[in-house]
Amino acid sequence: MKILAIGRNYVEHIHELQNTIPDEPVIFLMPETSLLQRNQPFFYPSFTQNLHYEVELVLKINRLGKNIAPKFANRYYSEITVGVDFTARDLQDKLKAKGLPWEKAKAFDHSAPIGEFMALSELQNPQNIRFTLEKNGEVVQVGESSKMIHSFDQIVAHVSQFFTLKIGDLIFTGTPAGVGPVQINDELRACIDGRELLNFKVK
Ligand code: ZN
Repeated sequence: MKILAIGRNYVEHIHELQNTIPDEPVIFLMPETSLLQRNQPFFYPSFTQNLHYEVELVLKINRLGKNIAPKFANRYYSEITVGVDFTARDLQDKLKAKGLPWEKAKAFDHSAPIGEFMALSELQNPQNIRFTLEKNGEVVQVGESSKMIHSFDQIVAHVSQFFTLKIGDLIFTGTPAGVGPVQINDELRACIDGRELLNFKVK
């Protein structure tokens, strides 16, 4: 399986990092080894001094597809969760300044903790999914899927022009504003519609 991730998909987050609004989705990949599941602890890596959380909605692909038309894209996913796209911001800034790929800063081992999946049919409002990230009990990020620049269907259609989607592939759909650093001993908790799907410690 593979993990696709979308960068710069919420206007306010683009502004906080002083990036420009893209006209098509910014895509990067993460290997399977970047996943961290079942609320296992995350160990702060030694190669960064500025590790940031980025909470994101994560789709799970449920059928094989290539060149998917936007109007059929919703048939290709039926489950969703929240994930954290951990980013070594200091390392990413260095790579970005040199115009180099940023995988070392975003796709390292266990950089992508994900929660338990829920069916899209269980959502209170599928047109505007509300998700939150709490750090040590304080809400640090609030996202609403209606504010995405590129919708789930546009993302699925776009990425499938380049990458055949397979059952079990995951798509991180971008982070809203409010990203920030974590420290050892922090506890992160992420919810959709107030339902806890992810809760883990930084060690
Ligand atoms: Zn991200």
